[in-house]
Amino acid sequence: MPQDDGSSAITAFLVEKGTPGFSIGRIHAKMGWHGYIMCELVFEDAFVPTANLLGGIGQGLQVAMSNINDARIGVAAHCVGMAQRALDLALEHARTRIAFGKPIGQFQGLQWMLADMALAVEQARAFLYAAARDMERSDDSRVSVSMAKLAATEMAGRVADQALQIMGGAGYVAESPIEMIYRDVRAFRIGEGTSEIQKNQIARGLLGKGFRA
Ligand SMILES: Cc1cc2nc3c(=O)[nH]c(=O)nc-3n(C[C@H](O)[C@H](O)[C@H](O)COP(=O)(O)OP(=O)(O)OC[C@H]3O[C@@H](n4cnc5c(N)ncnc54)[C@H](O)[C@@H]3O)c2cc1C
Repeated sequence: MPQDDGSSAITAFLVEKGTPGFSIGRIHAKMGWHGYIMCELVFEDAFVPTANLLGGIGQGLQVAMSNINDARIGVAAHCVGMAQRALDLALEHARTRIAFGKPIGQFQGLQWMLADMALAVEQARAFLYAAARDMERSDDSRVSVSMAKLAATEMAGRVADQALQIMGGAGYVAESPIEMIYRDVRAFRIGEGTSEIQKNQIARGLLGKGFRA
């Protein structure tokens, strides 16, 4: 007997701004993504006409998931770019910041950290390109895209943290670009499916399509 996961109970529809009974509730402050407003949507007997349905009745989950791969690979690309920027900032700082009479980039401890960061960025970039090729060539690239999203988002968090460490107090001040990257990359391990959900997707692909992780 098929498992009822409740997905057929979800229906998607568009609610126009200005619809009676629809209003914006509290706007939540966030640790990052300050250019992106996150707020509560309040519905009080708001009437939505049938013409505003997205897909059919009960197809809401399918509608929501229909572009999930595009969104996830976009996140992976975004994170590779942000991590590259973090690495570039750390390299520039390591070349120019003088401590104990020499550029801090001459300390082997930081050289190894920079090498680890560069390796991690390139590994995630390789996952990203492999997933992009898979999206072009295969009709089911969910596993490779989840791998790219998982690898890139987790990597970007680590690399941003290492870059901030290399920049010391200069990285922690609010006007430093690395401070923003550090806060902003954190969201990508949550949005478009958390890291745990990516692992579920990968495991499901490994165990067989019908298997619910
Ligand atoms: C900055 C930001 C922007 C966002 N923008 C959007 C947007 O534009 N549109 C949109 O629709 N959503 C958006 N989201 C919401 C985002 O998609 C959800 O927060 C995310 O999918 C996680 O859902 P949740 O917050 O309900 O966490 P939960 O589902 O409550 O998860 C909490 C914890 O439990 C874990 N967990 C849950 N289920 C499982 C499971 N089956 N197996 C293992 N672990 C599990 C999760 O991994 C997580 O660690 C945004 C979120 C953030 C932070």
